[in-house]
Amino acid sequence: MSVKLTEEQNLIVASMRELMTRENWDDYFKECDNEHKFPERFCKELSELGLHQIVNPVEYGGLEENAMVTFVAAWEEVLRLGGNAACIWFSSTYPVILREGNEKQKKIALELMETGLTKVGNAATEPGAGSDLGAMQTTYTRKDGKVYLNGQKTFCTDATYSDYLIVTALDAETKTKYTNWFVPTNAEGVTIAGLEKLGLKTNSAGEIYLDNVELEEDDMLGAEGAGFDMQKNDFNTERVVSGLYCYGYALCAFEDAAKYANQRVQFGEAIGRQQLIQLKLANMKAKLTNMRNMIYDGAEMVDDGTLDKGYAAMCKYYCVVAAQEVTDDALQILAGVGICGDHRASRAWRDIRASRISGGTDEMMILTLGRSIVKEYRNK
Ligand SMILES: Cc1cc2nc3c(=O)[nH]c(=O)nc-3n(C[C@H](O)[C@H](O)[C@H](O)COP(=O)(O)OP(=O)(O)OC[C@H]3O[C@@H](n4cnc5c(N)ncnc54)[C@H](O)[C@@H]3O)c2cc1C
Repeated sequence: MSVKLTEEQNLIVASMRELMTRENWDDYFKECDNEHKFPERFCKELSELGLHQIVNPVEYGGLEENAMVTFVAAWEEVLRLGGNAACIWFSSTYPVILREGNEKQKKIALELMETGLTKVGNAATEPGAGSDLGAMQTTYTRKDGKVYLNGQKTFCTDATYSDYLIVTALDAETKTKYTNWFVPTNAEGVTIAGLEKLGLKTNSAGEIYLDNVELEEDDMLGAEGAGFDMQKNDFNTERVVSGLYCYGYALCAFEDAAKYANQRVQFGEAIGRQQLIQLKLANMKAKLTNMRNMIYDGAEMVDDGTLDKGYAAMCKYYCVVAAQEVTDDALQILAGVGICGDHRASRAWRDIRASRISGGTDEMMILTLGRSIVKEYRNK
C-alpha cells in the first residue's frame, strides 16, 4: 500500500512534528522511565493538539472519516521522533465508555478526558485467567438492590494511576454472563498494589483485589452478558494499535542506528560502509516497510468496519516481532552506546519485549490467525 495523506492529515502530522522538535523530550522520557512515572506533561500536550480525540465517536469530537488512518499517521510521526507511547491507550479506553456507557458514565469519562490523562484502566486478566480469559473467577452478586464484586485481577495497565477501572466479572449465580463494571478505584473494598516490570515502565502495572465492592446497577458498562464480546471487538483495534506503537519505536531506533552508522568510524571508515552493517540496515528497512503497510491497511479496515480478528492478530504478531528484531539490530549497530547510558533504543527494545505478552501473546496471535485461515478455506 502506498499511503497518500490528505492535506488535513498532513497538517495534523506537521503539528506533531512541531511538538516533537520544540524541545528535547528524551530527558523527560528517561526520567519518567527511571522513576516509573506516567509522562503527564507530554500526554496533556498531545491532548491539546487533539490527537487523543481523533478516534472518539463523532458526536464527541472524533473525525467523521479516516479517523484511524489519521490517528496512525499522527502517532507514526510522534514515535519516529522519539515520542513515548504511554498515553496511546487514551484513545481506546475513553471511546468505549462514550460508545457503551450510560449518561452517568459518559459524564465521568468526559470529565476525565478533560484532564488530558489516561485515568481509566482495563481489568480482565486474573492470576488463573491470562490467555484463557474464559477461566476468570471474579464474580458479581446481587443482594438487596446492590451489586457486589469479589475477586482478583492482575497485570492491569495504569491501575495504580487510574480513577476508574473497567472490571470484567462473571455473574455468581449462573456463571454464564461476563459483564463489565465501571468501578471507582477509591471504592471501599478495592485494593491496588503496584507491580515491577521489564518494560513499558511509563505505564504502571497493578494487582487488584476486589473484596465485596458495593456497586449500583447503573455501574454496569454496556449490556449484561455483553462484557466479553464488547472487549473482544475492542481487542481487534487494540492489536493494530499495539503493532503501531512497536513499529513507531522500531522506526525511531532504525533512524538512530542509520545515522550512527554514518558517524561512527572504526578501522578508518564509517561502520556504515561495512556490508555486515548494510545487511542489517537493509533487513530493518524491509521489515519496517512491511509493518507500515500492514498497519495502514489495518487502520483502513478499522475505519470502514471490516477489521477481523485474523487480520488484527496477524498485525500484532508480525509487527511486534518484527519491531523487536529491528530494535535488536539497531542496538547491535549502536553497540556500547545503545546498551549503556539509557539510550532510547534500549528502552524501545524493553517496551517491545513486554508488548509480545500484553494485549495477547505471540502464541495466541498465531493461534487466532491460524484458525481464521483454516476457517476461510474450509469450504473452498
Ligand atoms: C505489560 C503488560 C500489560 C498488561 N495490561 C493488561 C491490562 O491492562 N488489562 C488486563 O486485563 N491484562 C493486562 N495484561 C495481561 C495480559 O493480557 C496477559 O499477560 C496475557 O494475556 C497472557 O496471560 P499470562 O501472562 O497469564 O500468560 P499465560 O496465558 O499463562 O501463558 C503463558 C505462556 O503459555 C502460552 N500459551 C497459553 N495458552 C496457550 C495455548 N493454547 N497454546 C500455545 N501456547 C499457549 C502463552 O502464549 C505464554 O507464552 C498485561 C500484561 C502485560 C505483560
